[in-house]
Amino acid sequence: MSEKTTYGFTTTILHNDRQKPIEHGSLHKPIHTSVAFGYTDARQLASVFQGKEPGFRYGRQGNPTISALEDKITKMEDGVATLCFATGMGAIGAVFQGLLRAGDHVVSSSFLFGNTNSLWQTVAGQGVGVDFVDATDVANVAAALKPETRLVFVETIANPRTQVADLARIGQLCKERGILYVVDNTMTTPYLFRPKSVGAGLVINALTKSIGGHGNALGGSLTDTGMYDWTAFPNIAANYRRAAPAQWGMTQLRAKGLRDFGASLAPEAAHHIAVGAETLALRMERASSNALALATLLESDARVAAVHYPGLPSHPQHGIASELFRSYGSLFSFELKDGIDCFDYLNRLKIGIPASNLGDTRTLVIPVAHTIFFEMGAERRASMGIAESLIRVSVGIEDQADLLADFQGALDAA
Ligand SMILES: *Cc1c(COP(=O)(O)O)cnc(C)c1O
Repeated sequence: MSEKTTYGFTTTILHNDRQKPIEHGSLHKPIHTSVAFGYTDARQLASVFQGKEPGFRYGRQGNPTISALEDKITKMEDGVATLCFATGMGAIGAVFQGLLRAGDHVVSSSFLFGNTNSLWQTVAGQGVGVDFVDATDVANVAAALKPETRLVFVETIANPRTQVADLARIGQLCKERGILYVVDNTMTTPYLFRPKSVGAGLVINALTKSIGGHGNALGGSLTDTGMYDWTAFPNIAANYRRAAPAQWGMTQLRAKGLRDFGASLAPEAAHHIAVGAETLALRMERASSNALALATLLESDARVAAVHYPGLPSHPQHGIASELFRSYGSLFSFELKDGIDCFDYLNRLKIGIPASNLGDTRTLVIPVAHTIFFEMGAERRASMGIAESLIRVSVGIEDQADLLADFQGALDAA
């Protein structure tokens, strides 16, 4: 498999590690637990530290097991480089801490994962202006831009209400204005969608979710797609401008976001995620098809008030989703009609597990307003389109008939 050969998504992931020699011919990249990396020549240690030759220094900044996973994700996203973090939030935090300064301005989608929303509040308290807009229409993003806008931040399919950002048009706008476009690709994963195709400069993946896929390891990543011209970014410090401009962003993010803040991925977690990633395509196809069947069933039921899933023709962004995504993903949310208590309903499910992860092999359900979106309060929930009865369903890879019977049976018992 040479660099130029184009294999399919899964073939590429399965065989990527072997592109570099692996110890003893291991088919899996081994788990390296050593924190330090020793050199026989002290001068070589110095030149690794000075970035004059490649090599590992200290586990917080990287390790061979992590590096193999980073290569795999770079391939998945068709990017130029990837940094891994302890969690998805670690990756998002690195963008904020590593790239923004007081006085900067950010335009963010208002439809966001709850903890990302909370992190934006923190950043706003540190002197960065943040404007939240309805990013399903590029006009709202354009209207919010200022001369000091440093980045635009969106999720592909928003967690949990499934609004789809106006991805391509926002990409075009950012390109025209020379603004960094940051896309959280967690809900689609690079199997369903590559943000690079719409001009994203940085792509975030919460590896905890579908990429790892089995709910047994936390992790996050940041991929530079090569689409952004870092010479246009004013916040790159002089000492990170020494290499070729294409490397400026990742050099600063590795130093400021990873080295200084220390949210480093553990090698054992990297191994779990790399093994999980081998079946990403298979799991996404199965889970997406289960999600479409389940969302369709619930939408046709008189006891259900609303179903939010980009795969349904009734979804406001169904057209954009059909155009851009390979399928519609494994997550949907729905609202029960008044008179049916969402807790009673969830307690009747036998397969769907009340739990707060997503992208797991198992189907997980959660009453959003009472759990993950509780802290922000009713007013902000309303502005994000979160109904008090909203149930988020992360659909797993169970047998479809069993899932349909479970969700239907819990309604019948209501
Ligand atoms: C879960 C999630 C994150 C955060 O990932 P963690 O690994 O849990 O920190 C970020 N963005 C989205 C869209 C998510 O669903």
